Amino acid sequence: MKEEPCQCPDCQRFYKEHDRLIREFPTFKEQQELNWASIQSFRTLCSKVSEELESQLSIKDIKDQSLPNNKHISDIEITDAIEQLENVNAYLYSIEALMERIFDIKVSDNIELKFKEISKKLAPDPLNIDRLILNRLFHQTPDLPDKNNFK
Ligand SMILES: [Zn+2]
Repeated sequence: MKEEPCQCPDCQRFYKEHDRLIREFPTFKEQQELNWASIQSFRTLCSKVSEELESQLSIKDIKDQSLPNNKHISDIEITDAIEQLENVNAYLYSIEALMERIFDIKVSDNIELKFKEISKKLAPDPLNIDRLILNRLFHQTPDLPDKNNFK
């Protein structure tokens, strides 16, 4: 007997997102590009935040002046974050190296059609386009309760 998938809000949000990514990127090539872009954007953002935090630290060291934008971030918090983000970037770099290998693989047009066919079965579109847009806006609402619970 098949086990029932968990229906907690976090999992439900994941299923919805999972299906959306299959529905909106239904080919091998689109999945390659999506995942590549996703890793790159994550790495770019983490690197920039790291850089910014490091420069905030060094400015503080040199001038020892309080920065208006930096009021609620302590030095310890910044140092910890820089360390953690460095780890994340190292992991992302490894993933990127593997992703490059996946990116080298190409499939024929017939196989791409198979991908499209299967994706329709896996994630049939239950919603019209307006609902999808609405959902996405809903996801972006900052005070959404399940967003605050996100770990
Ligand atoms: Zn769950």
